[in-house]
Amino acid sequence: MEANFEFRKQVMDFHIGPDVIKYCYQCSRCADNCPVTAVTADFYTTVGYNPRSNILAALLGYKGLLLGGDDLTIWGCTVCDTCDEVCPQNIELTEIFTFLKNQSIALGKGPDFIYSQAQAIYDNAKAIPSQPAIERRREQLGLPAVATPDVSEVQTLLKNIGSEKKLK
Ligand code: SF4
Ligand code: SF4
Repeated sequence: MEANFEFRKQVMDFHIGPDVIKYCYQCSRCADNCPVTAVTADFYTTVGYNPRSNILAALLGYKGLLLGGDDLTIWGCTVCDTCDEVCPQNIELTEIFTFLKNQSIALGKGPDFIYSQAQAIYDNAKAIPSQPAIERRREQLGLPAVATPDVSEVQTLLKNIGSEKKLK
């Protein structure tokens, strides 16, 4: 396994603040509390999603391992923030995981479901487009109609940040 020192430096820029140095000591508290690990990991193998091993690989600069893995490797994280809350070193894991996901997209290696969701947002200005069944149910429950978003305004915003070019 080869370390990529430029990648490691980028991770460390997310990891280390200006006045505080925080190092992961692999206590596994993040993995023990991660809801995705709980439903995907096999205790006896390396199968499944594991924030502890992702942090270790990121801090060692193992770019190929992280960005060349299956969809679950980095995209399994739902950004629930539990790991940030429980880490005894106050490491903001989700910041590093967001960096990893952005790197994955920059390389065109994001999983299909992410591109589909991004396309849905681009086309409809919302991740889950309105459907008659949802609207009927809301009406039955006495809930107000959901306001229609301004699709062209959202598309302009997305174009301005270059999202359109990153859609597959
Ligand atoms: S909880 Fe924090 S210190 Fe412990 S393994 Fe996870 S990232 Fe490292
Ligand atoms: S933010 Fe991601 S890695 Fe952290 S506990 Fe939640 S799902 Fe797991």
